[in-house]
Amino acid sequence: MNRTKLSKTKLTVVLTILLTFIVGATVVVKNTAEKKRLEKLEAEKERIRLEKIEKEKNEPIIGAKKNSVKKYGFDAKEIYNKLSTFDYSNNGEKVVFLTFDDGPSTTNTPKVLDTLNKHSVKATFFIKGDSLESNGAPEILKRTFDEGHAIAHHSYSHNYKTLYPNRSLNLDNFVNEINQTDMAMKKVLGDKFSSRVLRCPGGYMSWKNMDPLKNYLTEHDMASIDWNALNADAEGKKKDYNELFEFAKESSKDKEIVVILMHDTYGKEETVKSLDLIIPYFKENGYKFKILV
Ligand SMILES: [Zn+2]
Repeated sequence: MNRTKLSKTKLTVVLTILLTFIVGATVVVKNTAEKKRLEKLEAEKERIRLEKIEKEKNEPIIGAKKNSVKKYGFDAKEIYNKLSTFDYSNNGEKVVFLTFDDGPSTTNTPKVLDTLNKHSVKATFFIKGDSLESNGAPEILKRTFDEGHAIAHHSYSHNYKTLYPNRSLNLDNFVNEINQTDMAMKKVLGDKFSSRVLRCPGGYMSWKNMDPLKNYLTEHDMASIDWNALNADAEGKKKDYNELFEFAKESSKDKEIVVILMHDTYGKEETVKSLDLIIPYFKENGYKFKILV
Protein backbone atom coordinates (compact mmCIF):
# COMPACT_ATOMS: atom_id res chain seq x y z
CA MET A 1 0.00 0.00 0.00
CA ASN A 2 1.48 3.34 -0.96
CA ARG A 3 1.28 6.49 1.10
CA THR A 4 -1.34 8.19 -1.07
CA LYS A 5 -3.65 5.25 -0.88
CA LEU A 6 -3.18 5.06 2.87
CA SER A 7 -4.02 8.71 3.43
CA LYS A 8 -7.02 8.39 1.12
CA THR A 9 -8.38 5.56 3.25
CA LYS A 10 -7.70 7.59 6.41
CA LEU A 11 -9.45 10.56 4.92
CA THR A 12 -12.48 8.45 3.98
CA VAL A 13 -12.71 7.08 7.52
CA VAL A 14 -12.39 10.54 9.05
CA LEU A 15 -14.97 11.98 6.65
CA THR A 16 -17.36 9.11 7.33
CA ILE A 17 -17.04 9.63 11.08
CA LEU A 18 -17.49 13.35 10.67
CA LEU A 19 -20.53 12.91 8.44
CA THR A 20 -22.09 10.41 10.81
CA PHE A 21 -21.50 12.83 13.63
CA ILE A 22 -23.03 15.77 11.74
CA VAL A 23 -26.09 13.76 10.68
CA GLY A 24 -26.49 12.43 14.21
CA ALA A 25 -26.18 15.86 15.76
CA THR A 26 -28.68 17.30 13.29
CA VAL A 27 -31.19 14.57 14.16
CA VAL A 28 -30.71 15.20 17.87
CA VAL A 29 -31.11 18.97 17.45
CA LYS A 30 -34.14 18.47 15.24
CA ASN A 31 -35.78 16.03 17.70
CA THR A 32 -35.15 18.34 20.61
CA ALA A 33 -36.66 21.26 18.73
CA GLU A 34 -39.73 19.20 17.78
CA LYS A 35 -40.13 18.01 21.35
CA LYS A 36 -39.91 21.58 22.61
CA ARG A 37 -42.46 22.72 20.02
CA LEU A 38 -44.92 20.00 21.08
CA GLU A 39 -44.36 20.76 24.74
CA LYS A 40 -45.06 24.43 24.10
CA LEU A 41 -48.23 23.52 22.20
CA GLU A 42 -49.41 21.28 25.06
CA ALA A 43 -48.68 23.99 27.62
CA GLU A 44 -50.65 26.50 25.56
CA LYS A 45 -53.59 24.08 25.28
CA GLU A 46 -53.51 23.52 29.05
CA ARG A 47 -53.38 27.27 29.69
CA ILE A 48 -56.48 27.83 27.52
CA ARG A 49 -58.30 24.96 29.27
CA LEU A 50 -57.58 26.34 32.75
CA GLU A 51 -58.48 29.86 31.64
CA LYS A 52 -61.85 28.55 30.40
CA ILE A 53 -62.54 26.76 33.69
CA GLU A 54 -61.61 29.88 35.64
CA LYS A 55 -63.81 32.04 33.43
CA GLU A 56 -66.76 29.66 33.82
CA LYS A 57 -66.25 29.62 37.58
CA ASN A 58 -66.67 33.37 37.65
CA GLU A 59 -69.61 33.56 35.27
CA PRO A 60 -72.97 34.24 36.91
CA ILE A 61 -75.49 31.39 37.10
CA ILE A 62 -78.96 32.76 36.42
CA GLY A 63 -81.92 30.63 37.46
CA ALA A 64 -80.63 27.20 36.50
CA LYS A 65 -77.57 25.24 35.39
CA LYS A 66 -76.06 26.60 32.19
CA ASN A 67 -76.80 23.59 29.96
CA SER A 68 -80.34 23.43 31.31
CA VAL A 69 -80.92 27.11 30.53
CA LYS A 70 -79.65 26.44 27.02
CA LYS A 71 -81.87 23.40 26.51
CA TYR A 72 -85.07 24.28 28.37
CA GLY A 73 -84.85 27.96 29.29
CA PHE A 74 -87.56 30.39 28.28
CA ASP A 75 -87.28 34.11 28.90
CA ALA A 76 -89.52 34.85 31.89
CA LYS A 77 -90.05 38.42 30.68
CA GLU A 78 -91.58 37.14 27.49
CA ILE A 79 -93.94 34.94 29.49
CA TYR A 80 -94.73 37.86 31.79
CA ASN A 81 -95.76 39.93 28.77
CA LYS A 82 -97.89 37.09 27.43
CA LEU A 83 -99.64 36.44 30.72
CA SER A 84 -100.27 40.10 31.49
CA THR A 85 -101.99 40.58 28.12
CA PHE A 86 -103.86 37.24 28.37
CA ASP A 87 -102.23 36.20 25.11
CA TYR A 88 -101.55 32.46 25.33
CA SER A 89 -100.60 31.91 21.69
CA ASN A 90 -97.11 30.82 20.64
CA ASN A 91 -97.07 30.48 16.82
CA GLY A 92 -98.46 26.98 16.97
CA GLU A 93 -95.76 25.70 19.32
CA LYS A 94 -97.13 24.35 22.59
CA VAL A 95 -95.09 24.93 25.74
CA VAL A 96 -95.89 24.06 29.33
CA PHE A 97 -94.19 25.32 32.47
CA LEU A 98 -94.74 23.07 35.47
CA THR A 99 -94.35 25.35 38.49
CA PHE A 100 -94.18 24.39 42.16
CA ASP A 101 -94.61 26.92 44.96
CA ASP A 102 -93.78 27.15 48.66
CA GLY A 103 -91.05 24.49 48.82
CA PRO A 104 -88.74 22.87 49.21
CA SER A 105 -90.38 20.42 51.60
CA THR A 106 -88.51 17.42 52.89
CA THR A 107 -91.55 15.21 52.29
CA ASN A 108 -92.93 15.99 48.84
CA THR A 109 -90.19 17.81 46.90
CA PRO A 110 -87.97 14.69 46.64
CA LYS A 111 -90.97 12.74 45.29
CA VAL A 112 -91.76 15.51 42.81
CA LEU A 113 -88.13 15.36 41.65
CA ASP A 114 -88.28 11.57 41.30
CA THR A 115 -91.44 11.86 39.19
CA LEU A 116 -89.97 14.59 36.98
CA ASN A 117 -86.91 12.39 36.45
CA LYS A 118 -89.08 9.40 35.62
CA HIS A 119 -90.79 11.39 32.85
CA SER A 120 -87.57 13.24 31.85
CA VAL A 121 -89.05 16.73 32.17
CA LYS A 122 -87.91 19.93 33.87
CA ALA A 123 -89.86 22.33 36.08
CA THR A 124 -89.58 25.67 37.86
CA PHE A 125 -89.54 25.81 41.66
CA PHE A 126 -90.65 29.00 43.42
CA ILE A 127 -88.77 28.86 46.70
CA LYS A 128 -90.11 30.18 49.97
CA GLY A 129 -86.94 31.37 51.69
CA ASP A 130 -87.80 30.27 55.22
CA SER A 131 -88.51 26.71 54.08
CA LEU A 132 -84.73 26.39 53.73
CA GLU A 133 -84.42 26.70 57.51
CA SER A 134 -85.74 23.11 57.88
CA ASN A 135 -83.23 20.33 58.36
CA GLY A 136 -82.51 18.64 55.05
CA ALA A 137 -84.22 21.30 52.92
CA PRO A 138 -81.00 22.94 51.63
CA GLU A 139 -79.83 19.57 50.30
CA ILE A 140 -83.12 19.22 48.44
CA LEU A 141 -82.72 22.66 46.89
CA LYS A 142 -79.23 21.64 45.79
CA ARG A 143 -80.61 18.45 44.28
CA THR A 144 -83.33 20.42 42.47
CA PHE A 145 -80.69 22.68 40.94
CA ASP A 146 -78.30 19.83 40.11
CA GLU A 147 -81.05 17.97 38.27
CA GLY A 148 -81.51 20.93 35.93
CA HIS A 149 -84.68 22.59 37.23
CA ALA A 150 -85.11 26.34 37.56
CA ILE A 151 -85.01 28.06 40.95
CA ALA A 152 -87.12 31.18 41.47
CA HIS A 153 -88.28 33.58 44.19
CA HIS A 154 -91.43 33.31 46.27
CA SER A 155 -90.58 35.71 49.18
CA TYR A 156 -89.04 34.63 52.47
CA SER A 157 -91.96 34.51 54.90
CA HIS A 158 -94.98 34.26 52.58
CA ASN A 159 -96.68 36.41 55.20
CA TYR A 160 -99.37 38.52 53.51
CA LYS A 161 -99.52 40.90 56.49
CA THR A 162 -95.84 41.76 56.11
CA LEU A 163 -95.73 41.84 52.32
CA TYR A 164 -99.09 43.52 51.74
CA PRO A 165 -100.44 45.12 54.94
CA ASN A 166 -104.12 46.04 54.36
CA ARG A 167 -103.82 44.20 51.01
CA SER A 168 -101.48 46.91 49.76
CA LEU A 169 -97.82 46.35 48.80
CA ASN A 170 -95.10 47.32 51.27
CA LEU A 171 -92.15 47.62 48.89
CA ASP A 172 -89.46 47.78 51.58
CA ASN A 173 -90.66 44.61 53.25
CA PHE A 174 -91.09 42.88 49.91
CA VAL A 175 -87.59 43.80 48.69
CA ASN A 176 -86.07 42.79 52.03
CA GLU A 177 -87.59 39.37 51.59
CA ILE A 178 -86.29 39.05 48.03
CA ASN A 179 -82.80 39.86 49.33
CA GLN A 180 -83.12 37.52 52.28
CA THR A 181 -84.21 34.67 49.99
CA ASP A 182 -81.41 35.52 47.56
CA MET A 183 -78.91 35.13 50.41
CA ALA A 184 -80.46 31.84 51.52
CA MET A 185 -80.24 30.52 47.93
CA LYS A 186 -76.62 31.67 47.56
CA LYS A 187 -75.70 29.86 50.76
CA VAL A 188 -76.77 26.60 49.11
CA LEU A 189 -76.03 27.22 45.43
CA GLY A 190 -73.01 29.52 45.67
CA ASP A 191 -72.40 33.24 45.33
CA LYS A 192 -72.64 33.15 41.54
CA PHE A 193 -76.26 32.06 41.68
CA SER A 194 -79.20 34.41 41.38
CA SER A 195 -82.69 34.24 39.97
CA ARG A 196 -84.52 36.93 38.03
CA VAL A 197 -87.89 35.19 38.31
CA LEU A 198 -90.40 35.93 41.04
CA ARG A 199 -93.87 34.77 41.90
CA CYS A 200 -95.66 37.00 44.39
CA PRO A 201 -97.29 35.05 47.22
CA GLY A 202 -101.00 35.04 46.43
CA GLY A 203 -100.24 36.21 42.87
CA TYR A 204 -99.27 39.64 41.55
CA MET A 205 -102.81 40.25 40.40
CA SER A 206 -104.31 39.90 43.88
CA TRP A 207 -102.93 43.02 45.60
CA LYS A 208 -103.20 46.81 45.53
CA ASN A 209 -100.48 49.39 44.88
CA MET A 210 -98.19 46.97 42.98
CA ASP A 211 -96.63 49.56 40.64
CA PRO A 212 -93.59 50.21 42.88
CA LEU A 213 -92.79 46.50 42.71
CA LYS A 214 -93.20 46.54 38.94
CA ASN A 215 -90.67 49.40 38.74
CA TYR A 216 -88.30 47.60 41.09
CA LEU A 217 -88.44 44.45 38.97
CA THR A 218 -87.83 46.42 35.76
CA GLU A 219 -84.82 48.16 37.31
CA HIS A 220 -83.40 44.83 38.45
CA ASP A 221 -84.10 42.96 35.21
CA MET A 222 -86.51 40.64 37.00
CA ALA A 223 -89.88 39.27 35.97
CA SER A 224 -92.98 38.45 37.97
CA ILE A 225 -94.80 35.31 36.84
CA ASP A 226 -98.32 34.38 37.88
CA TRP A 227 -100.09 31.47 36.18
CA ASN A 228 -102.81 30.74 33.63
CA ALA A 229 -103.64 27.18 34.71
CA LEU A 230 -103.68 25.25 37.99
CA ASN A 231 -104.38 21.87 39.50
CA ALA A 232 -106.14 23.73 42.35
CA ASP A 233 -104.19 21.95 45.07
CA ALA A 234 -104.53 25.07 47.25
CA GLU A 235 -108.09 26.16 46.37
CA GLY A 236 -111.42 25.02 47.74
CA LYS A 237 -111.95 21.58 49.17
CA LYS A 238 -109.14 19.04 49.27
CA LYS A 239 -109.02 17.05 46.04
CA ASP A 240 -107.62 13.65 45.18
CA TYR A 241 -105.02 13.24 42.45
CA ASN A 242 -107.61 12.52 39.80
CA GLU A 243 -109.58 15.69 40.57
CA LEU A 244 -106.34 17.67 40.53
CA PHE A 245 -105.56 16.25 37.09
CA GLU A 246 -109.04 17.13 35.79
CA PHE A 247 -108.61 20.69 37.05
CA ALA A 248 -105.20 20.99 35.37
CA LYS A 249 -106.60 19.67 32.10
CA GLU A 250 -109.65 21.94 32.16
CA SER A 251 -107.76 25.10 33.10
CA SER A 252 -105.09 24.65 30.42
CA LYS A 253 -107.49 23.88 27.58
CA ASP A 254 -106.84 25.65 24.23
CA LYS A 255 -103.71 27.39 25.49
CA GLU A 256 -100.41 27.14 23.61
CA ILE A 257 -98.57 28.63 26.57
CA VAL A 258 -99.46 26.98 29.87
CA VAL A 259 -98.02 28.09 33.20
CA ILE A 260 -99.48 25.68 35.67
CA LEU A 261 -99.55 26.47 39.39
CA MET A 262 -98.93 23.58 41.80
CA HIS A 263 -97.38 23.16 45.25
CA ASP A 264 -94.61 20.86 46.49
CA THR A 265 -94.94 21.81 50.14
CA TYR A 266 -96.08 19.74 53.14
CA GLY A 267 -99.45 18.01 52.77
CA LYS A 268 -99.42 18.03 48.95
CA GLU A 269 -99.11 14.25 48.50
CA GLU A 270 -102.01 14.19 46.02
CA THR A 271 -100.18 16.72 43.83
CA VAL A 272 -97.22 14.36 43.64
CA LYS A 273 -99.54 11.57 42.49
CA SER A 274 -101.37 13.83 40.01
CA LEU A 275 -98.10 14.43 38.13
CA ASP A 276 -98.21 10.89 36.76
CA LEU A 277 -101.37 11.93 34.91
CA ILE A 278 -100.58 15.59 34.22
CA ILE A 279 -97.17 15.08 32.62
CA PRO A 280 -98.24 12.32 30.17
CA TYR A 281 -101.33 14.40 29.28
CA PHE A 282 -99.20 17.36 28.17
CA LYS A 283 -96.78 15.07 26.37
CA GLU A 284 -99.57 13.37 24.45
CA ASN A 285 -100.93 16.75 23.46
CA GLY A 286 -97.65 17.87 21.94
CA TYR A 287 -96.38 20.23 24.64
CA LYS A 288 -92.69 20.89 25.24
CA PHE A 289 -91.66 21.26 28.87
CA LYS A 290 -89.74 24.46 29.52
CA ILE A 291 -88.33 26.34 32.51
CA LEU A 292 -88.60 30.02 33.42
CA VAL A 293 -85.27 31.83 33.62
ZN1 LIG B 1 -97.25 30.44 47.76
